Amino acid sequence: MTNTASTAPTGIGLGMPSMPADREVPVLAPRRPTRQLDVGGVGVGSESPVSVQSMTTTVTADVNATLQQIAELTAAGCQIVRVAVPTNDDAAALKQIVEHSQLPVIADIHFQPKYVFAALEAGCAAVRVNPGNIRQFDDQVKEIARTAKDLGTPIRIGVNAGSLDKRLLEKYGRATPEALVESALWECSLFEDHDFTDIKISVKHNDPVIMVRAYELLAQQCDYPLHLGVTEAGPAFQGTIKSAVAFGALLSQGIGDTIRVSLSAPPVEEVKVGLQILESLNLRERGLEIVSCPSCGRAQVDVYKLANEVTAGLEGMDVPLRVAVMGCVVNGPGEAREADLGVASGNGKGQIFVKGEVVRTVPESEIVETLIEEAMRIADGMRAEGVPAGEPSVTTV
Ligand code: SF4
Repeated sequence: MTNTASTAPTGIGLGMPSMPADREVPVLAPRRPTRQLDVGGVGVGSESPVSVQSMTTTVTADVNATLQQIAELTAAGCQIVRVAVPTNDDAAALKQIVEHSQLPVIADIHFQPKYVFAALEAGCAAVRVNPGNIRQFDDQVKEIARTAKDLGTPIRIGVNAGSLDKRLLEKYGRATPEALVESALWECSLFEDHDFTDIKISVKHNDPVIMVRAYELLAQQCDYPLHLGVTEAGPAFQGTIKSAVAFGALLSQGIGDTIRVSLSAPPVEEVKVGLQILESLNLRERGLEIVSCPSCGRAQVDVYKLANEVTAGLEGMDVPLRVAVMGCVVNGPGEAREADLGVASGNGKGQIFVKGEVVRTVPESEIVETLIEEAMRIADGMRAEGVPAGEPSVTTV
């Protein structure tokens, strides 16, 4: 299986890596065909690469703080940002934020339909509404649909297990996958009745098993693009694992068009995790990849130290370079040969491999500087050949 669906441009020039059309890479499944949306210049749908989004944690009405966080998210590789709009002051700040943000801004609206209109008028790239939380929403769907359509603004129907529509909670007893999907599709039908279909959907749950099942069911019943998320996934370690497992299960079936990792951690961390998930599945061009062994009783060098020093020395590397750092001669030469650059260590020395060939043998004390020197040289060559940039990652073998 090769990646063809993710070669389309995102439509926004953020310098983000995408799969070059002439480089076919294996993926686990083709993307599920979906409708295509334009979220402030970022394509969301099966014709575009899976995008990474996050949400600001600042008070939205604090425009400077919010824009500062958006700038940090932009630098981290985020492609779409969402801001909470719980008050009049937040709604009033949207216009200024939209004008100065480097990223498309999605307004996150609960409870107050009037903020949906404020967000649309402010020029937000999309609006997220929660069917469980928007009171008296039904009366105003027609007007919201008309305004959004006139402006070309998509709407995300964001169902969340913690705020499931009471009617469905009574019907199903709890937030089951079926309840989440029924809530989402019911809300979609309200918009469809007014000929509005620029919709993407999320059905989030904090349990990856329920979440995965809900998205699988949803994918069978509609062709809207899907925003993946494990809600309230927890602190960084737990949330990263939960999100990687759940997103991996879905993306490996081709399900999912945009992702948001929810962590009890700074939003930049969410973006790093999201990018790494996509890279791991070949849904995004890999950047610097450090392949290092976990070390064991055979190690003849301090592998952790070596891997950390090489990683630090190559920080910011913007080309897809694979560097193998191996502790001994058991797997070392094999992995080092497979990488663009590698070292197999033993007897106080390191054999340096470039593109599968031993180019030098250096004393242990010179391994790090030699690897960094060679990496820079190879990277210069790659840049000269126009190899696209990617994100750094570390893999252990
Ligand atoms: S390459 Fe494998 S065998 Fe050698 S030190 Fe690393 S983990 Fe141990």
